[in-house]
Amino acid sequence: MQTRCYRCGRSFHIKKEEIVFALEALEESEGIHYDVRCPSCRHTNRVSIDQLRKGAPRSEESSEDSKQD
Ligand SMILES: [Zn+2]
Repeated sequence: MQTRCYRCGRSFHIKKEEIVFALEALEESEGIHYDVRCPSCRHTNRVSIDQLRKGAPRSEESSEDSKQD
């Protein structure tokens, strides 16, 4: 999904895998925002769980269970 840094205004892309991971982490911690760092200015932007859900892949084809920390 595409998002925009509210500090420097740069648009950047969040990978699907990262969205899936973020949603899982948020659901576990009952959080409502995912912190994503701008690749340009390194400012931390908050993306709401609603936005992540909209950007998340709908299919269940990815059954990879890779746990990275
Ligand atoms: Zn930025």
